[in-house]
Amino acid sequence: MNISFVILLFGLVAASAEILGGSVVLMRREWPQKAQEYLLALGAGFILALVLLDLIPESIASIGATAPLLILLGFSMLHFAEHTVVGHLHFGEEVHSDVMVSKVASYSAFWGLFIHAFFDGVSISAGMQYNFPLGLMMFFAILLHKFPEGLTIASIMLAADQPRRNAFWATAGTGAGTMLGIVTMFFLKSVDVQIVGYAFAFSAGAGMYVGASDLIPEINRSQNRIAPIVVFAGMILFYISSLVVVKVVGK
Ligand SMILES: [Zn+2]
Ligand SMILES: [Zn+2]
Repeated sequence: MNISFVILLFGLVAASAEILGGSVVLMRREWPQKAQEYLLALGAGFILALVLLDLIPESIASIGATAPLLILLGFSMLHFAEHTVVGHLHFGEEVHSDVMVSKVASYSAFWGLFIHAFFDGVSISAGMQYNFPLGLMMFFAILLHKFPEGLTIASIMLAADQPRRNAFWATAGTGAGTMLGIVTMFFLKSVDVQIVGYAFAFSAGAGMYVGASDLIPEINRSQNRIAPIVVFAGMILFYISSLVVVKVVGK
């Protein structure tokens, strides 16, 4: 099977998990707070282990001294998109309707998450083009937080008193952002194949931001003291999954 087609399919799975998360909010299904926190905690441990054990060493081995700068750039790009131009954005269900009173606040939060989702797509696509088994691990790392991500954007729209239709489109739009990131990497690769290595290093920094700044703070804020322990379970899950991936797909 054509590799681009395979990458597109994985992108669609990630985007669907996002839309599923949003749909749960829209259907007003009771989604237990604890389950959301455990999912965020698993995602945090998984992506941080992936970044520190595989992505950073691999980036340095691949593009050398330029890698740390691109890692910092990836980290900074997400920080800029989510927390400088956007007033209020955090992962998990939005419960602060007091700060989401203005529609402008919800639109800016949407664009912050859209850019985040775009780089989720870039990471999956660059990872799979660079080294398929590593890209597959990247896909799992991102998939773990895609459902809570959909839940986040849909609940932000509802907290801002937006019609449910807008909440749906915002969720679908974030999913589309992931797909745009996937396709953008196909285009960039056709321009210059070296860009894949740079994007891979950039993804390491972006992944570090997602784990350390999007996910970990949500767990630390929680009253549930089991969630922080689940972060370690995420790291162990990473270890086991990478053994399975190496066995099934090869290195
Ligand atoms: Zn909030
Ligand atoms: Zn994400």
